[in-house]
Amino acid sequence: MKRLGIIDADLIDNGTRHPNLACMKISAYYKEKGWDVELLESYDNLDKYDLVSISRVFSFTKVPNSIYKDGRCVDVEHPEIDLKKNIQIGGTGFYYDKAPDLPYEIEHHMPDYDLYKDYIQKKLDKGEPRSRYADYLDFSIGFVTRGCFRKCSFCVNKKYDHVFKASPVSEFLDLKRSKIYLWDDNFMASPDFNGILDELVATGKPFQFRQGLDIRLMTEAKAKRLSEVKYYGDYIFAFDHIEDKDLIIKKLTLWRKYCNKSTKLYVLTGYDSQDEIDIKNTFERIKILMKFGCLPYIMRYEEYKNSRFKSMYIQLARWCNQPNFIKKQSFRQYCEDNERYHKAHSKNINKYCSCYRTMLDFEKEFPEIAKEYFDLRWEDLNEYRR
Ligand code: SF4
Repeated sequence: MKRLGIIDADLIDNGTRHPNLACMKISAYYKEKGWDVELLESYDNLDKYDLVSISRVFSFTKVPNSIYKDGRCVDVEHPEIDLKKNIQIGGTGFYYDKAPDLPYEIEHHMPDYDLYKDYIQKKLDKGEPRSRYADYLDFSIGFVTRGCFRKCSFCVNKKYDHVFKASPVSEFLDLKRSKIYLWDDNFMASPDFNGILDELVATGKPFQFRQGLDIRLMTEAKAKRLSEVKYYGDYIFAFDHIEDKDLIIKKLTLWRKYCNKSTKLYVLTGYDSQDEIDIKNTFERIKILMKFGCLPYIMRYEEYKNSRFKSMYIQLARWCNQPNFIKKQSFRQYCEDNERYHKAHSKNINKYCSCYRTMLDFEKEFPEIAKEYFDLRWEDLNEYRR
């Protein structure tokens, strides 16, 4: 029997808590062909497999040079040329926006939902909570559409210039799983928005679009329809640029006309710039979201690490990305709380904690920004309290 080793490179490098859908489809396809398929947890002894399939979503995920025939990748544009004979690779982590599609018969195969079974069992046996692995255990996973027309400069989804139907829900639906999540790039632009929702609703299972939905495309009809479905978790949209402020306010007003459920918006930071203007624009977007009773979720573009306000970006993310903090405390209260905790628990009480010091330093240099935003409270500004 031929042997296939599957490597989810992000998993081995601790970069993900989601199963890799491509790995699951490849696994199912080869199992059906009679191969012995194994999820590998290291890069050891790859020579004993007839084929090793490595998938990588993130470019920062490390893979060893031992997968290349001369011990290194010479042609980074076409890394497949340099691979050892029994190795194949795929995913945006290797090819960024030029990742080749899976062959049709693999792309449209029912995923192998058992691929991670032994791996998860080992984690559970060690006492890790089941909830940490809910994505592996409880969800059917797929793309109902692919593609996006926007081509945002920071996004890997540039391969297509429109949204098209990818898979019927039945193609990836596992009836034993209680929920569904979807990796679509821009479902809101789907020409078959209602038809696909009909399919999802017919399953009777709650579902969620994980990548966020494009609120700029919201209409009365879409807001009404989306608000009526059995949606799982928060509705997630994005508010990437302050220039979209008026449009986002208009669309959130429309959304709140129909839906008062928990709504979160990704807030991209450190992308347009990494200075005090970007910090101010981030606070301004947070303020707008507070008014609509929405939760900001701070996304930090890699460049933030090179900013002299790096710590400010980190504190903003820590404050916003935990609903319990942002809902209950202003930024100042959050930082003061951190300092109180530091004073009570640290041996080094002569120094401020980094969170409080970051706030003080920023306030000293930019008192106007601090005055305008540091004391805003979600509870006070929220005009849509239930
Ligand atoms: S709208 Fe979303 S999916 Fe489309 S290019 Fe922009 S970030 Fe990517």
